[in-house]
Amino acid sequence: MTNGLVIVSEEVCQQVVGRGDAFTAVEQVFAAMARGDAYNFPVIREAIGHADALYGFKSGFDRAGLALGLKSGGYWPGNADKGLTNHQSTVCLFDPDSGRLKALVGGNYLTALRTAAASSVSIAHLARRDAKVLGMVGAGHQSTFQLRAAAEQRAFEKVIAWNPHPEMLPKLGAVAAELGLPFQAVEREALGAEADVIITITSAFEPLLMADWIKPGAHIACMGTDTVGKQELDPALLATASLFTDEVAQSVNLGEAQHAIKSGLIVDADITPIGEVINGAHPGRRSADEITIFDGTGVGLQDLAIASVAADLAAKRGAATLVAL
Ligand code: NAD
Repeated sequence: MTNGLVIVSEEVCQQVVGRGDAFTAVEQVFAAMARGDAYNFPVIREAIGHADALYGFKSGFDRAGLALGLKSGGYWPGNADKGLTNHQSTVCLFDPDSGRLKALVGGNYLTALRTAAASSVSIAHLARRDAKVLGMVGAGHQSTFQLRAAAEQRAFEKVIAWNPHPEMLPKLGAVAAELGLPFQAVEREALGAEADVIITITSAFEPLLMADWIKPGAHIACMGTDTVGKQELDPALLATASLFTDEVAQSVNLGEAQHAIKSGLIVDADITPIGEVINGAHPGRRSADEITIFDGTGVGLQDLAIASVAADLAAKRGAATLVAL
C-alpha cells in the first residue's frame, strides 16, 4: 500500500475481492485469534434516536496481519425506500506503526463476503468429507453469498432450503441452478433429516431447528444469531453437539450459545475457537456421527482482514483512489 490514504469504493471491492481471498483472510485471522496474536475490542452498538438507526463500531488489532482499525456502521430501516441498502458499513484502517489513517474501504459487499467465508471455513474444517446435501435455512441478502461459498467446500449433489417467507426461496434456487445443483424447497424437519451441512442465516428470535430433527454427522453453520435475543437452534442441540465459534466471548453473550448458556445446558469451556482447529491444536470433528456446530457471530477482525486485502488488491491494480495526506 502507498503512504497516502487509499479509498476503495463498494464497486471496486466487488471488482477486486473474490471468495478465495475472503476464505484465506478469514481463516488466517481466526488462526491468529486462537494463537493470541489478534484480538477484538469491545463492540459498541447504539440506537441513535434518529432515523430509527442502530449504529456502532467493531474494532480490533491483528499483530500477525498488522491490521488495525474499525468497521463503523449499522442498520437504517428506512434506507430501502430511498433505494439504499438498510445495512451500511465502512472500514477504516490505520497504520499500526504510526496511527495514521491508511484506508477507507466500503464494507457492505465485504461484510457478506467475510460472513460467507466464516461458515465456509467451518465447513472446510468440520464437515464430513462425504457431505452430499446442503441445507439452507434463510433466503435473505446473505443467503446467496453463503450458498456460493459453501458449494466450493464439498462435492454437494443437491441443495434443500426452507425460509419462513417462502416467496424468497426462488432467488436462492436461481443461484443453485447457476452452480449446477438441483434445488428443492422442503419443510424444516425434512431438511434436518436429509442435510449433511446446514447453514442458518435468518433474523429469527426463536429456534427454527429442533435437536431430534438433525441427522447424525451433520455440520451446522449457525450464522444469523449475532445479537442478544436472536436464536435459530434448539438449545438442546447445543448440549449434545460439539461446539465451535469465531470468538467464545461473543458466542456466549450474543451468539447462538447465549440461550444454552443461560439455561445452564453448556458452559463457556464447552465451546472451542475454530482457530484452534485451523492451528491443529484441536482435532475438530472426532467421529462420523458427531454433530458439529459453528456459532458464527461475526467479529471486527474479519472485517479488518478482508478490508486490508481489498485495499492491497485495489492499490496494486490501480483501482483505488489515492489521496495524499
Ligand atoms: P435479510 O433481512 O436480507 O434476510 C432475513 C432472513 O431472515 C430472511 O430469510 C427472512 O425470511 C428471515 N426472517 C426474517 N424475520 C424472521 C423471523 N422473525 N423468524 C425467522 N426468520 C426470519 O437479512 P440478511 O442480511 O440476509 O441477514 C440474515 C441474518 O444474518 C441477520 O440476522 C443478520 O443480522 C445476520 N448476520 C450475521 C452476520 C455474522 O457475521 N454472523 C453477518 C451479517 C448478517
